[in-house]
Amino acid sequence: MKGECLCGNVRFEIEEEIRNLYQCHCTLCRKATGAAANAATFVQGTAFRWVSGESGIKSYKKPSGFRSDFCSECGSPVPNSLRDSGMVWIPAGLLDEPVASKVSVHLHTKSAATWEQASTECVRLDGGPASLDSLNKLL
Ligand SMILES: [Zn+2]
Ligand SMILES: [Zn+2]
Repeated sequence: MKGECLCGNVRFEIEEEIRNLYQCHCTLCRKATGAAANAATFVQGTAFRWVSGESGIKSYKKPSGFRSDFCSECGSPVPNSLRDSGMVWIPAGLLDEPVASKVSVHLHTKSAATWEQASTECVRLDGGPASLDSLNKLL
């Protein structure tokens, strides 16, 4: 499994099947991603390999220990090693190949943004809107 950040500077490979994807809806994950929830998984450190861009990774840490590693060029969240666990945290959005499993757990749903709702209750388009105007008509 290959993955890379938005600009492609940070690339990595995983030599094991991706499973146990989760989405975290906590306020920290929301800030770190700008999205409703942070979709991620964990893999064994022995199955993870940086391909490029490791030197361009910056790390931000809260006093509480919450850590966000990101590409210094494009700002994408990137994998980070979880100290002492032997595991590597992987932001699912960076994966570039089809993943056999799906998100199976949602965490911190009590902290979910008030504007979040199940995607089945929203208008769903196969692609982007034809224009900003047509998007506004759907909202
Ligand atoms: Zn990047
Ligand atoms: Zn979280």
